[in-house]
Amino acid sequence: MSAGRPLDGADAASPAQPLLAVRKLHAQYGATRVLHGIDFEVRPRGITTVLGANGAGKTTTLRAVCGMVRTQGEILLAGDRIDGKATEDIVRRGVAHVPDGRGTFSHLTTEENLRMGAYTRRDKNEVQADYERMYAWFPRLKERRRQQAGTLSGGEQQMLAIARALMLRPRLLLLDEPSFGLAPLIVRELFDILGEINAAAGTSILLVEQNASLALRLADHAYLLETGRVVMSGPAERIRDDEAVRRSYLGY
Ligand code: ATP
Repeated sequence: MSAGRPLDGADAASPAQPLLAVRKLHAQYGATRVLHGIDFEVRPRGITTVLGANGAGKTTTLRAVCGMVRTQGEILLAGDRIDGKATEDIVRRGVAHVPDGRGTFSHLTTEENLRMGAYTRRDKNEVQADYERMYAWFPRLKERRRQQAGTLSGGEQQMLAIARALMLRPRLLLLDEPSFGLAPLIVRELFDILGEINAAAGTSILLVEQNASLALRLADHAYLLETGRVVMSGPAERIRDDEAVRRSYLGY
Protein backbone atom coordinates (compact mmCIF):
# COMPACT_ATOMS: atom_id res chain seq x y z
CA MET A 1 0.00 0.00 0.00
CA SER A 2 1.43 3.41 -0.91
CA ALA A 3 1.40 6.33 1.52
CA GLY A 4 -1.30 8.72 0.35
CA ARG A 5 -1.09 10.41 -3.03
CA PRO A 6 1.21 12.95 -4.66
CA LEU A 7 1.25 16.36 -3.01
CA ASP A 8 0.56 18.20 -6.24
CA GLY A 9 -2.28 16.13 -7.63
CA ALA A 10 -6.00 16.49 -7.07
CA ASP A 11 -7.40 13.93 -4.70
CA ALA A 12 -8.65 10.83 -6.46
CA ALA A 13 -11.95 10.75 -4.58
CA SER A 14 -14.72 12.05 -6.82
CA PRO A 15 -16.05 15.51 -5.93
CA ALA A 16 -19.42 13.99 -5.09
CA GLN A 17 -17.91 11.54 -2.60
CA PRO A 18 -16.58 12.97 0.64
CA LEU A 19 -12.93 12.18 1.32
CA LEU A 20 -13.86 11.45 4.92
CA ALA A 21 -17.36 10.50 5.98
CA VAL A 22 -18.14 9.80 9.61
CA ARG A 23 -21.53 8.33 10.48
CA LYS A 24 -23.05 7.79 13.93
CA LEU A 25 -19.65 7.77 15.58
CA HIS A 26 -19.52 6.83 19.23
CA ALA A 27 -16.29 6.77 21.21
CA GLN A 28 -15.44 5.84 24.73
CA TYR A 29 -12.57 5.49 27.17
CA GLY A 30 -13.31 2.45 29.29
CA ALA A 31 -16.84 2.98 30.55
CA THR A 32 -16.78 6.74 29.83
CA ARG A 33 -18.69 7.61 26.69
CA VAL A 34 -17.33 10.75 25.04
CA LEU A 35 -18.85 10.90 21.54
CA HIS A 36 -22.56 10.16 21.15
CA GLY A 37 -23.25 9.37 17.49
CA ILE A 38 -21.70 12.27 15.58
CA ASP A 39 -21.81 12.72 11.79
CA PHE A 40 -19.41 14.86 9.78
CA GLU A 41 -17.58 15.02 6.47
CA VAL A 42 -14.46 16.42 4.84
CA ARG A 43 -14.71 17.12 1.12
CA PRO A 44 -11.85 16.24 -1.25
CA ARG A 45 -9.45 19.22 -1.06
CA GLY A 46 -11.69 20.66 1.65
CA ILE A 47 -11.05 22.05 5.11
CA THR A 48 -13.48 21.06 7.84
CA THR A 49 -13.24 22.43 11.35
CA VAL A 50 -14.65 20.93 14.52
CA LEU A 51 -15.19 23.56 17.18
CA GLY A 52 -16.17 23.26 20.79
CA ALA A 53 -15.35 24.13 24.36
CA ASN A 54 -12.92 22.24 26.62
CA GLY A 55 -13.92 18.62 26.96
CA ALA A 56 -16.45 18.68 24.10
CA GLY A 57 -14.71 15.72 22.45
CA LYS A 58 -12.62 17.40 19.73
CA THR A 59 -9.36 15.56 20.45
CA THR A 60 -11.26 12.31 20.79
CA THR A 61 -12.82 12.87 17.36
CA LEU A 62 -9.36 13.01 15.76
CA ARG A 63 -8.15 10.06 17.81
CA ALA A 64 -11.19 8.09 16.62
CA VAL A 65 -10.45 8.82 12.95
CA CYS A 66 -6.94 7.44 13.33
CA GLY A 67 -7.93 4.36 15.27
CA MET A 68 -6.57 5.38 18.65
CA VAL A 69 -9.76 4.99 20.66
CA ARG A 70 -12.59 2.45 20.84
CA THR A 71 -15.43 3.43 18.52
CA GLN A 72 -18.75 2.35 17.08
CA GLY A 73 -20.22 3.69 13.86
CA GLU A 74 -18.73 4.16 10.40
CA ILE A 75 -15.61 6.01 9.32
CA LEU A 76 -15.07 5.99 5.55
CA LEU A 77 -11.98 7.26 3.76
CA ALA A 78 -12.76 7.78 0.07
CA GLY A 79 -15.55 5.23 0.45
CA ASP A 80 -13.49 2.57 2.30
CA ARG A 81 -14.27 1.66 5.90
CA ILE A 82 -11.31 2.47 8.16
CA ASP A 83 -13.04 2.14 11.53
CA GLY A 84 -11.58 -0.77 13.46
CA LYS A 85 -8.33 -0.68 11.45
CA ALA A 86 -4.95 -0.32 13.12
CA THR A 87 -3.50 3.19 13.29
CA GLU A 88 -0.51 2.03 11.22
CA ASP A 89 -2.85 0.94 8.43
CA ILE A 90 -4.78 4.23 8.56
CA VAL A 91 -1.51 6.17 8.30
CA ARG A 92 -0.49 4.09 5.28
CA ARG A 93 -3.79 5.01 3.63
CA GLY A 94 -2.72 8.64 3.82
CA VAL A 95 -4.07 10.04 7.08
CA ALA A 96 -1.51 12.09 9.03
CA HIS A 97 -2.22 13.23 12.58
CA VAL A 98 -0.60 16.22 14.29
CA PRO A 99 -1.62 15.68 17.93
CA ASP A 100 -1.95 18.40 20.52
CA GLY A 101 1.38 18.94 22.20
CA ARG A 102 2.98 18.43 18.76
CA GLY A 103 5.14 15.42 19.58
CA THR A 104 8.28 16.24 17.66
CA PHE A 105 11.35 14.16 18.48
CA SER A 106 13.18 16.69 20.62
CA HIS A 107 16.65 15.12 20.40
CA LEU A 108 16.56 14.86 16.63
CA THR A 109 17.28 17.78 14.32
CA THR A 110 14.62 19.48 12.21
CA GLU A 111 15.69 17.52 9.15
CA GLU A 112 15.82 14.20 10.99
CA ASN A 113 12.26 14.84 12.17
CA LEU A 114 11.20 15.42 8.56
CA ARG A 115 12.89 12.17 7.57
CA MET A 116 10.88 10.34 10.25
CA GLY A 117 7.70 11.71 8.67
CA ALA A 118 8.58 9.98 5.39
CA TYR A 119 9.28 6.59 6.96
CA THR A 120 6.60 4.78 4.98
CA ARG A 121 7.84 6.11 1.64
CA ARG A 122 10.12 4.30 -0.79
CA ASP A 123 10.49 7.11 -3.35
CA LYS A 124 13.78 8.45 -1.94
CA ASN A 125 14.38 11.07 -4.66
CA GLU A 126 10.96 12.53 -4.17
CA VAL A 127 11.44 12.57 -0.42
CA GLN A 128 14.53 14.69 -1.01
CA ALA A 129 12.49 17.08 -3.17
CA ASP A 130 9.83 17.26 -0.46
CA TYR A 131 12.36 18.56 2.10
CA GLU A 132 12.82 21.55 -0.18
CA ARG A 133 9.06 21.88 -0.58
CA MET A 134 8.66 21.99 3.21
CA TYR A 135 11.45 24.54 3.50
CA ALA A 136 9.73 26.70 0.87
CA TRP A 137 6.52 26.65 2.93
CA PHE A 138 8.30 26.99 6.26
CA PRO A 139 11.50 29.02 5.64
CA ARG A 140 12.23 29.18 9.38
CA LEU A 141 12.67 25.41 9.35
CA LYS A 142 15.29 25.68 6.64
CA GLU A 143 17.31 28.11 8.74
CA ARG A 144 17.05 25.62 11.58
CA ARG A 145 17.46 22.38 9.65
CA ARG A 146 20.40 21.20 11.76
CA GLN A 147 19.05 22.45 15.09
CA GLN A 148 17.63 20.02 17.67
CA ALA A 149 13.84 20.14 17.60
CA GLY A 150 13.68 20.56 21.39
CA THR A 151 15.46 23.90 21.10
CA LEU A 152 13.01 25.37 18.56
CA SER A 153 10.41 27.95 19.60
CA GLY A 154 6.81 26.80 20.14
CA GLY A 155 5.75 28.17 16.76
CA GLU A 156 8.68 26.52 15.00
CA GLN A 157 7.91 23.21 16.69
CA GLN A 158 4.30 23.43 15.52
CA MET A 159 5.51 24.16 11.98
CA LEU A 160 7.89 21.19 12.21
CA ALA A 161 5.11 18.89 13.45
CA ILE A 162 2.93 19.91 10.49
CA ALA A 163 5.80 19.65 7.99
CA ARG A 164 6.69 16.22 9.36
CA ALA A 165 3.09 15.08 8.87
CA LEU A 166 3.11 16.47 5.31
CA MET A 167 6.23 14.41 4.53
CA LEU A 168 3.87 11.43 4.49
CA ARG A 169 2.15 13.08 1.50
CA PRO A 170 -1.17 12.64 3.27
CA ARG A 171 -4.49 12.97 1.55
CA LEU A 172 -5.96 14.03 4.90
CA LEU A 173 -4.20 16.04 7.59
CA LEU A 174 -5.67 15.94 11.11
CA LEU A 175 -4.67 18.99 13.14
CA ASP A 176 -5.32 19.24 16.87
CA GLU A 177 -5.33 22.84 18.15
CA PRO A 178 -2.38 24.07 16.08
CA SER A 179 -2.83 27.57 17.55
CA PHE A 180 -2.42 26.40 21.14
CA GLY A 181 0.10 28.42 23.13
CA LEU A 182 1.34 30.45 20.16
CA ALA A 183 1.54 34.23 19.81
CA PRO A 184 -1.21 35.73 17.60
CA LEU A 185 1.24 36.80 14.90
CA ILE A 186 2.71 33.29 14.62
CA VAL A 187 -0.76 31.77 14.57
CA ARG A 188 -1.79 34.01 11.67
CA GLU A 189 1.39 33.07 9.78
CA LEU A 190 0.73 29.38 10.43
CA PHE A 191 -2.90 29.55 9.29
CA ASP A 192 -1.89 31.44 6.12
CA ILE A 193 0.56 28.63 5.33
CA LEU A 194 -2.12 26.00 5.97
CA GLY A 195 -4.38 27.80 3.49
CA GLU A 196 -1.56 27.82 0.91
CA ILE A 197 -0.81 24.13 1.40
CA ASN A 198 -4.46 23.26 0.97
CA ALA A 199 -4.77 25.39 -2.18
CA ALA A 200 -1.46 24.35 -3.77
CA ALA A 201 -1.21 20.71 -2.77
CA GLY A 202 -4.90 19.88 -2.43
CA THR A 203 -4.33 18.31 1.00
CA SER A 204 -7.65 18.02 2.82
CA ILE A 205 -7.65 19.14 6.44
CA LEU A 206 -9.69 18.25 9.50
CA LEU A 207 -8.95 20.98 12.00
CA VAL A 208 -9.88 20.93 15.66
CA GLU A 209 -9.68 24.36 17.28
CA GLN A 210 -10.73 26.45 20.23
CA ASN A 211 -9.84 29.57 18.27
CA ALA A 212 -13.16 29.59 16.41
CA SER A 213 -12.67 32.86 14.63
CA LEU A 214 -9.43 31.76 12.96
CA ALA A 215 -10.68 28.29 12.18
CA LEU A 216 -13.87 29.62 10.55
CA ARG A 217 -11.80 31.87 8.32
CA LEU A 218 -9.73 28.93 7.06
CA ALA A 219 -12.38 26.22 6.82
CA ASP A 220 -15.14 25.69 4.27
CA HIS A 221 -17.31 23.61 6.64
CA ALA A 222 -17.73 23.68 10.38
CA TYR A 223 -19.27 21.49 13.06
CA LEU A 224 -19.97 22.62 16.58
CA LEU A 225 -19.54 19.96 19.27
CA GLU A 226 -21.10 20.14 22.70
CA THR A 227 -20.43 17.28 25.14
CA GLY A 228 -19.94 14.78 22.37
CA ARG A 229 -22.83 15.83 20.13
CA VAL A 230 -22.95 17.96 16.99
CA VAL A 231 -25.24 20.86 17.81
CA MET A 232 -24.71 22.89 14.66
CA SER A 233 -23.07 22.41 11.26
CA GLY A 234 -22.86 24.04 7.87
CA PRO A 235 -20.72 26.18 5.60
CA ALA A 236 -18.10 27.99 7.71
CA GLU A 237 -19.31 31.36 6.47
CA ARG A 238 -22.84 30.71 7.68
CA ILE A 239 -21.67 29.47 11.09
CA ARG A 240 -19.45 32.55 11.41
CA ASP A 241 -22.42 34.82 10.82
CA ASP A 242 -24.70 33.00 13.24
CA GLU A 243 -25.71 35.23 16.12
CA ALA A 244 -25.56 32.52 18.83
CA VAL A 245 -22.17 31.26 17.66
CA ARG A 246 -20.83 34.79 17.59
CA ARG A 247 -21.91 35.38 21.16
CA SER A 248 -20.79 32.03 22.59
CA TYR A 249 -17.65 31.28 20.60
CA LEU A 250 -16.41 34.37 18.87
CA GLY A 251 -16.91 36.89 21.64
CA TYR A 252 -18.37 39.76 19.58
P1 ATP B 1 -9.83 20.22 25.06
O1 ATP B 1 -10.12 21.36 24.17
O2 ATP B 1 -9.85 20.58 26.51
O3 ATP B 1 -8.63 19.41 24.66
P2 ATP B 1 -11.58 18.32 23.76
O4 ATP B 1 -12.80 18.89 23.15
O5 ATP B 1 -10.45 18.01 22.85
O6 ATP B 1 -11.10 19.24 24.95
P3 ATP B 1 -11.36 15.58 24.61
O7 ATP B 1 -9.92 15.68 24.94
O8 ATP B 1 -11.75 14.82 23.41
O9 ATP B 1 -12.03 17.03 24.53
O10 ATP B 1 -12.09 14.98 25.89
C1 ATP B 1 -13.49 14.70 25.93
C2 ATP B 1 -13.84 14.05 27.23
O11 ATP B 1 -13.19 12.77 27.32
C3 ATP B 1 -13.40 14.81 28.47
O12 ATP B 1 -14.42 14.75 29.42
C4 ATP B 1 -12.16 14.08 28.94
O13 ATP B 1 -12.04 14.16 30.33
C5 ATP B 1 -12.45 12.64 28.52
N1 ATP B 1 -11.18 11.93 28.19
C6 ATP B 1 -10.25 12.29 27.32
N2 ATP B 1 -9.23 11.41 27.27
C7 ATP B 1 -9.54 10.44 28.17
C8 ATP B 1 -8.91 9.23 28.61
N3 ATP B 1 -7.74 8.85 28.09
N4 ATP B 1 -9.53 8.51 29.56
C9 ATP B 1 -10.72 8.89 30.07
N5 ATP B 1 -11.38 10.01 29.70
C10 ATP B 1 -10.80 10.77 28.77
